Amino acid sequence: MNAKSAQTFSGAVMTSEGMAYKGAVFSPVIDKCEGCSRIRDFEGHAYCSSYSAPQAKWSLGDCNFATHVRAAQASQAKVNPLKASKRAAKGGR
Ligand code: SF4
Repeated sequence: MNAKSAQTFSGAVMTSEGMAYKGAVFSPVIDKCEGCSRIRDFEGHAYCSSYSAPQAKWSLGDCNFATHVRAAQASQAKVNPLKASKRAAKGGR
């Protein structure tokens, strides 16, 4: 466990229902969270530092706090297909 994860879930305890932290029971992250920088480790399990129920968060669509999804969308947004085709027609990049 690194210093950041210890700081994030300081005072948390593991219960039979999950990790209890500040009055909420946290569920482990799901596969869609993989790559997100908000994932923290607690006693060998990965939890989200922003949401107690990652699965419920993703059930409504993409998680709006996901750092890895936002990064992917930003790189896609940089390419405007219309401008790209005009540039290609002019022989530019
Ligand atoms: S912010 Fe969203 S994607 Fe990232 S770990 Fe939490 S629930 Fe998963």
